[in-house]
This record gives sequence, structure tokens and C-alpha cells, in this order.
Amino acid sequence: MQPTNASLAGHAAIVTGASSGIGLAVAEAVAAAGAAVAVNYHAQAEPAEELVGRITAQGGRAIAVQADVSQEAEVIRLFDEAAAAFGRIDLLVSNSGVQKDAAIGDMTLEDWNTVIGINLTGQFLCAREAVKRFRAQPEQGRPARSAGVIVAMSSVHEIIPWAGHVNYASAKGGVRMLTRSLAQEVAGDGIRVNAVAPGAIRTPINKEAWDSEEALSKLLRLIPYGRIGEPEDVARAVVWLASDEADYVTGTTLFVDGGMSLYPEFRDNG
Ligand code: NAD
Repeated sequence: MQPTNASLAGHAAIVTGASSGIGLAVAEAVAAAGAAVAVNYHAQAEPAEELVGRITAQGGRAIAVQADVSQEAEVIRLFDEAAAAFGRIDLLVSNSGVQKDAAIGDMTLEDWNTVIGINLTGQFLCAREAVKRFRAQPEQGRPARSAGVIVAMSSVHEIIPWAGHVNYASAKGGVRMLTRSLAQEVAGDGIRVNAVAPGAIRTPINKEAWDSEEALSKLLRLIPYGRIGEPEDVARAVVWLASDEADYVTGTTLFVDGGMSLYPEFRDNG
């Protein structure tokens, strides 16, 4: 991957859900930009350990930490382990997410609670822990102008309604307001909070939307820029938002979607 020019030298980062897809690319990019990184995984230890091996082989610092982001005690342990390894925490990329799709009549309470628990409550638990740690760290020795940065992985569905996915779209809509409200609350502490909203990115979460030619051509009708996104497209945006280059940016969502959120149906005059 082409790294960005943004530097995260001396930063210590936590990336959740980093054993696959976007999270893996983000952890790799954050490390390439100079940060030490805690690679959180839920169930897949092997790819997380492999990534840690790749980063350390290139002279970087990384650890793998298992934790379920929907569980309060596990989130606290994740932060404890990262802080013990690196001595500080400067960046949280809250990326973990799942889909449990169903039409409303068939959506179980379990499907609803699982998606809200990981995609929204997980964001709250990680953000709360990050803010507490950022506030407790001395100003001296900071690697950045800010006292800490949170980047939440949202989705174009924080604004685009999505039939058959009300749990997912509701969680991402919640992430939008969590990001904005928290940014307002902690800006005075020098903490920046932003979200990245990917469009369609080639990862395991949406495999059925791109793994056949028919599905891909249907998907491309929704993307004015004419290609599916790759995890690295999102990773570069995260590194920039985390860096001092984005020092005056807080409370916003950066859409990385090839124009998916631009009402593509209106391209031919509606
Ligand atoms: P993915 O399935 O590869 O990644 C999701 C990650 O979340 C996995 O690593 C998984 O292990 C982790 N995870 C699941 N449950 C967890 C839990 N309880 N605790 C900790 N981690 C858990 O899919 P992805 O596309 O890389 O998704 C990453 C994020 O990007 C998600 O928040 C998703 O909603 C968002 N997103 C993806 C797309 C896309 O097109 N791929 C678009 C918009 C938003």
C-alpha cells in the first residue's frame, strides 16, 4: 500500500476488530505511519498474530489483544494491556462491527441487540475508556498537538436509510451523534473525535455484494466513482484524521465512498 505522508511517530494506538478487512488495513497503515499498535481481535487470533509479526519484522511495535468490544470489563482490559505495553494511548480507532440482516418482521431481538451491542455500545465503551486515559496522561511527552484522537468507523448508513438492515443503520446513525456529541464534550480537553464513513469496501462483511460479476455490476450502479473501495482507501483517511495534519478537525464524518452518498439515482436528472 502507498502510505500517506502523515506521521504518527511516537503515537500509541488501539485498533478494534483489526484481524480482518478495514481494521487490519488501518492497523497496518497506522503502524507504517510510525505508531505502536494494539491489534484487537474478537475470535480470529491467527491473522492478528500474523499482522503483529509483520509489523515487528519491519521494526514497528505491536501486540495482539483479544477482547469483545461489547463487554465493559473486556474493553477496560484491552486498554490496560495496551497501556502496559506502550506506556500511553494516543489514538483509538473504533472499527469493530457486524451485520445481522433481516426484514423487520423476521428480525429477532437477539439480532437487534447484537448489532447495537457491538456497533454502538462497543463504540461508547471504547470511547469512554479512551477519554479517561487521554485526560489522565500528562501534557509533557505527548507525540501530537492534541491530547488524544478517536476515529469511529461509521458507514454511509449513518445517513442513508437501509431497508432490511434497521439494526445496522440505527447503530451507525447513533455513531454519528455519538461522534458529534462527544467531540463537543471533550474538545476543551484537547481531544478530537471524528468518524469515517466508508461506502462499499471489499471486505468479508459484504462479500455477497462483490464476489460475483452480477452482484458487482449491481453494486457499481450505486457508486458514481465507478469502482468498489479497498480497505486501504479507508486506512489512508484514518491516518490523516489521526495525525496533526487534521489538528483542527473534530466532530465531523469523513465520507470515503466514491460518491455513494451523493444520491446517484439523480445522475440522469432524477
Ligand atoms: P469485517 O467483518 O472484516 O470486520 C469487522 C471486524 O469486527 C472483524 O475483525 C471482527 O472480528 C470484529 N468484531 C466483530 N465482533 C466483535 C466484537 N464483539 N468485539 C471486537 N471485535 C469484533 O468487515 P469490515 O468491512 O472490515 O468492517 C469494519 C467496520 O467497517 C465495521 O464497523 C463496518 O460496519 C464498517 N463498514 C464497512 C463497510 C464495507 O463496505 N466493508 C462499509 C461501511 C462501514
